[in-house]
Order: sequence, then C-alpha cells, then structure tokens
Amino acid sequence: KAKELGQNKYQVHTPTMDIESYKTFKLSSDLRSPLTLNQFEIYYQPKVCAATHQITGAEALIRWHHPKWGNVFPDEFIPLAEELGIMSQIDQWICQTVCNQNKAWQEAGLPAIPISINISAKRFLETEMITDITDLLVKNRLDPGYLEVEIVESTLLENNTAVIAVLDGLRKKGIKINLDDFGKGYSSLSYLMSFKGKINTLKIDKSFIDDLSHTADENSNFITKSIIELAQYLGMNVVAEGVETLEQLEILKSYKCNTVQGYLFSKPVPADAFAELLKKGKFDLPTPENTGTSTP
Ligand code: C2E
Ligand code: MG
Ligand code: MG
Ligand code: MG
Repeated sequence: KAKELGQNKYQVHTPTMDIESYKTFKLSSDLRSPLTLNQFEIYYQPKVCAATHQITGAEALIRWHHPKWGNVFPDEFIPLAEELGIMSQIDQWICQTVCNQNKAWQEAGLPAIPISINISAKRFLETEMITDITDLLVKNRLDPGYLEVEIVESTLLENNTAVIAVLDGLRKKGIKINLDDFGKGYSSLSYLMSFKGKINTLKIDKSFIDDLSHTADENSNFITKSIIELAQYLGMNVVAEGVETLEQLEILKSYKCNTVQGYLFSKPVPADAFAELLKKGKFDLPTPENTGTSTP
C-alpha cells in the first residue's frame, strides 16, 4: 500500500483514522492524479447592478465532482492543493477555462462581461503569475478588460513591495483587481488608503451583509454604510457579497452600493445555466416569496 503512494514518506493506518482525516488523506492523494482535472468544473455567479438588476459581471468558482465523495467544495480542497504545491497548475486550468468560456460567450453574441477568478496569496506572489495569465489572454484572444482577479486582504499584508509590484504589473496589463472578503481581515483603514488607485473593486464580506436589516441596531448597518462610502472616496467600485434578501438589497441601494452578488439573484451555476442568465441579461425583481433558491 505505502509503495503505491509513490513519494509519500508516511504510512496509513486507516483503522485508527477518523473519517475526516481519512477523507483529507484520500483527497490529497486524488488531487495528485492528472485525471482529477476532468472532475473539476467552473461555476459562475452573476454580479448584478443593484439598481437595474442587470448582469454586469460574474465570479468563477471551482467545484470538484468527486466520484466517491460527491461535491467537494473549494474551502476543503484548495488548502490541500496549496500544501501539495499543485495550486498553480489548477490556477492555470481555471484561468484557461474561464478565458476560453468568456470568449466563446462573446463570439456567440452574448453580452460581454468581465469574469473574475480567485487567486491565492501564494500564487499572487509567484513571478510567472502575470505572464501566465497574459499568455492565456492572448491564446484565447480575450481582451484583458474581461478578466479580473480577486485577492483577499491578507494577501496584501504579505510583503508590501512585492505586492505593489504585482498590483502595478496587473494594472499595466489592463487586468482589474477586486479585494475580496473585505472587512473580515485585519488591515486598517489607513492601510487600505495606500492602495488607492491600485484596487478597482472592494467586495464587502458577507458577514456584514448578513447583519443588515431595517430593524438591526444602527451600528451594524453603519459599518456597511461606512465601508461603501470609504470605497467610493477611494474611487473603488463596491460589490456586496452574499446578498440573500430583498431587505438587504434595499438597504444597500439606499447606501448607493452599485453591485450585488448573492443567492437573492442566483447561486453559482454551471456554464450552460449561466449562459441562459446572460442571454436574458437581467433579473426580474424578486418578490418577497421568491428570494433565491434553496439547492446548492
Ligand atoms: P469567495 O471568493 O469569497 O466566494 C464567495 C463564496 O460565497 C462562494 O463559495 C459562493 O458560492 C458563496 N456565496 C455567494 N453568494 C452567497 C449567498 O448569498 N449566501 C451564501 N451562504 N453563500 C454565498 P464557494 O464557491 O464555496 O467558495 C468558497 C471560497 O473558496 C471562495 O470565497 C474562494 O476564496 C475560494 N475559491 C472558490 N473558487 C476558487 C478558485 O477557483 N480558485 C481559488 N484560488 N479559490 C477559490
Ligand atoms: Mg471571490
Ligand atoms: Mg468573497
Ligand atoms: Mg471567501
């Protein structure tokens, strides 16, 4: 058994493992198989104009349809792939798939929209990252304005000069940058100020959106309102993540948040289903009884 596992230096003692660590172990070894790429699929979640309900963009989110474990979510396997040092291969596959798909939609005459991909901190600081991405844009003849990257706050805290160089490098290529899960991390407001002109879009973390309500104590609503105003002061677009209710949408609109993303309009969906949404171009105003769907 141990021999089959190749370079693995450790032995497995299945009977003493709990299910979770057994699953983690199995997922790690499956991730190393080249066949796994065929089990990945990119889902797309629309970014929607808060005022008109028009689709103005999308986020690409990876799914792993595992033959034994079913749907494995990215929060579970991406940390494993990073540990195994194979995340840049997966990132390449994601970027290629998204560029190719976006170009195909444009050629089919669907509205042209930017699609964002998530980039881990480690990948962000790899020197080949920018050329890898631009090579794929050229290969797929996709205008750089239609690809965006999402990074989380902690990525910015890693190494200031290196991070600034990458942000500037992406910007020079015409690739826009989204700061994901904003507010969840620990960066100070003055730190955010130093990225003025370098970050195009601030995505407010779902935890703030969850707290929004007409009846909530004003403090939690006020944080969201302040983040929106700060972003606008810095010349950044704002996307509210994880919008699930009409009430949240109404409050965000009153705060002049321009873009929302969340189950209220759509869950992340496979490419074919997303193409149908894009064909329609906009969502009908959801009624209070019809606020999103309930299947993952
Ligand atoms: P993220 O980039 O912040 O993505 C948003 C997550 O929130 C997604 O989960 C999405 O399905 C979920 N979401 C969106 N709207 C709602 C809502 O209204 N309600 C609720 N409850 N959830 C909502 P997902 O797809 O499981 O991804 C989780 C995280 O995994 C992502 O967070 C991102 O950090 C990472 N990830 C996903 N795909 C990729 C990828 O292709 N590459 C990399 N490096 N990371 C990825
Ligand atoms: Mg994201
Ligand atoms: Mg996010
Ligand atoms: Mg997240």
